[in-house]
Amino acid sequence: MSTSKKWSDLTMQTIAKERATPPFDIRKMSIEQHGSEKDLIKKEKFMLEAARDPVFYSSDIYDLTKDQIRERTMQRIQKLAHYVTSESVDDFQKRMELMSLLDPGLWTRLGVHYGLFLGALRSGCTPNQFSYWMEKGVIGCKEMFGCFGMTELAHGSNVAGLETTATFDEQTDEFVIHTPNLGATKWWIGGAAHTATHCSVFAQLVVKGKKHGTKTFVVPLRDPKTFNLLPGINIGDIGKKMGRDGIDNGYIQFTNVRIPRAFMLMKHTQVTRDGEVREPPLQQLTYGALLQGRTAMVADSANTAKKALTISIRYAAVRRQFKSDAKAELETQILDYPIHQRRLMPLLAQSVAFGFTALELQRLYDETSNAIEALEPGDPNLNATIEMLKETHATSAGLKAFCTWATLETIDKSRQACGGHGYSSYNGFANMYADFAVHCTWEGDNTILALQAGRSLISSYQDAREGKKLSSGTGYLNNIEKVLAGKCPSDAALDTLDGIDAGWATVAAHAVKKAADDYEARIKAGRSKEQAFEDCSQVRFVAASIHTSGYIFRQFRHAVERLESRGDGVKEHLEILAKFYGLWQMEEKAAFFLRSAWLSPAQMDAVQAKVTEYCAKTREFAIPLIDSFALSDHVLNSPIGRYDGDIYREYFNMVRKNNPQLKGHPYFEKLIKPFIFRETPEMEDYDEAIGIDDEIEEIKQDREEAEAEAKANEDK
Ligand SMILES: Cc1cc2nc3c(=O)[nH]c(=O)nc-3n(C[C@H](O)[C@H](O)[C@H](O)COP(=O)(O)OP(=O)(O)OC[C@H]3O[C@@H](n4cnc5c(N)ncnc54)[C@H](O)[C@@H]3O)c2cc1C
Repeated sequence: MSTSKKWSDLTMQTIAKERATPPFDIRKMSIEQHGSEKDLIKKEKFMLEAARDPVFYSSDIYDLTKDQIRERTMQRIQKLAHYVTSESVDDFQKRMELMSLLDPGLWTRLGVHYGLFLGALRSGCTPNQFSYWMEKGVIGCKEMFGCFGMTELAHGSNVAGLETTATFDEQTDEFVIHTPNLGATKWWIGGAAHTATHCSVFAQLVVKGKKHGTKTFVVPLRDPKTFNLLPGINIGDIGKKMGRDGIDNGYIQFTNVRIPRAFMLMKHTQVTRDGEVREPPLQQLTYGALLQGRTAMVADSANTAKKALTISIRYAAVRRQFKSDAKAELETQILDYPIHQRRLMPLLAQSVAFGFTALELQRLYDETSNAIEALEPGDPNLNATIEMLKETHATSAGLKAFCTWATLETIDKSRQACGGHGYSSYNGFANMYADFAVHCTWEGDNTILALQAGRSLISSYQDAREGKKLSSGTGYLNNIEKVLAGKCPSDAALDTLDGIDAGWATVAAHAVKKAADDYEARIKAGRSKEQAFEDCSQVRFVAASIHTSGYIFRQFRHAVERLESRGDGVKEHLEILAKFYGLWQMEEKAAFFLRSAWLSPAQMDAVQAKVTEYCAKTREFAIPLIDSFALSDHVLNSPIGRYDGDIYREYFNMVRKNNPQLKGHPYFEKLIKPFIFRETPEMEDYDEAIGIDDEIEEIKQDREEAEAEAKANEDK
């Protein structure tokens, strides 16, 4: 048997054995995680279409330059244009969810148009305005492609501080869009460098010399027929970045660019022909635009974590190192080392928890945006809708922050778990990490979002104390005294979903109370509201972090409880994973469980032991579980994560194909030869050239003579 055949047989047999007797029905497990069989079938169809289409060929992607990737991305966009108008919005969204895994740069380049630009129009246009832009071709990307111009060189997160101005010219019924200084240059704008014809520009509204805050304006950038820049528009490419090379980020400067008054988005604030500014009764309604991106990023966190773990866990199943038993015929699979299980299995449970949380967040988002869209002037549902929006806003802020952080960590932990091969670009982690990292920054920097979530928890706590009944997300604050006094009754409670849930409720209640108490103490000490919030930012952050872990656990728990026990093993194994996630997070946040005294130190030891136990238990069904994530080899684009386990042959082939052996050396004559055959200059003998030793001898003799002369004079 050839050596390569030997290795292929061994790794393929090993992975086949891992899936020989799955303890649950893999297909049914997959359906639960995808929300429905219909959605799973759609995803499989999209994956197959992409795998067979040469435009989506990806094996060479790791060696392409930025410019080649941008061009490839545009070819893919052309391809996807067909589906934009031929399939339902829901199907297209699902297709895009998959595209995000396959090609995050492509997802972003289309996302700035469909998610951000169109999202801004949807949430900011009056019905007539929206019809106008529809007719112009916004839905089908016909003669228009939008970008989203919020961030400036000197300002990002602080949207109120943006400096671009939109000054109303009453005489001509136009707005004049202007960049007053370098710092106000729009920066990072995705699609601006090469693709966009229009931009939704965030600018300070100035009417009759008075500023009215940041509003949104549609500004044409290029003539769609020639792609020449329109008068007053200056655009440049901001060049190479950490990842997502497929998207052309650019800068934009406006020099007194005139747009019609009707190009300001006027659903919330209106400017009349004679310059009257009508503000919306409730500013909160304008928040809706931010939710879609965050919801998508929580789903992307779940999907990307599952992708990274599919690679690292399949690899761990077939990679062998050392023999833990000297008599064993084969070396040990690295997945069998308890420490390796500790590194990967909790992350596996977490990725499943994120998946169910993402489904719930999507449901919440749909419900909230439908409620906002249905609102009419004087609607009796206004207050209930605002409350729902506030809750969705705070929940999505915390989830976006903590899920993207955890996923970025999952990618790197997965990479490290694959040793040297994890570091090779061909196995996918390098691009995955660089592409994913920006989720922690854009559409709300994670720290800022976490602090916003913490702020909202403080106000929920105050509401609960005043007797207001809180909704399910913060429901644990309703019966606060009882919840705060909670203690883990026994080790057995740690084996139940109810028991674990009670722990999270108590510890989250303590963390939120601590943040609220600190805040109120600062207010009593005379600090302003804003100063008090800043003073207690660390406790606010901690409250958001603990609340969010508890929230994720609860979503997982509810998903398990909604399932029936059907004899297919799905509910039972999801329950194992839900408990595992809840307990592992307890271990991760041990200090807070001990400080609130929900757990005693001895019980904390029990938690730790149970987590180790769950790691071993989950290892037993790790490969079938990963198969239920339903990610094709084409989407993974990582030979060491292949479904069939034939990792070495495929890895070797991919490396060889992308790095053909050259006939001649690329720079031997030019660089290597002159280097290894360089002349060694003869060393000069500095002592001899200077004659230093003779000179030292002369100095010595002179000194001795002088001393002898001095002595002779003394004796006289
Ligand atoms: C690849 C990429 C693509 C992008 N695409 C677009 C686009 O298409 N359109 C667009 O408009 N923008 C885009 N952006 C910009 C992005 O949305 C901003 O970079 C992001 O919102 C963060 O803002 P900032 O860069 O100003 O960071 P800053 O707000 O300056 O933050 C810097 C640091 O300070 C911290 N910080 C700031 N304020 C506070 C505070 N109050 N309390 C505590 N800490 C604080 C933050 O946590 C962060 O660590 C893109 C960015 C990137 C990287």
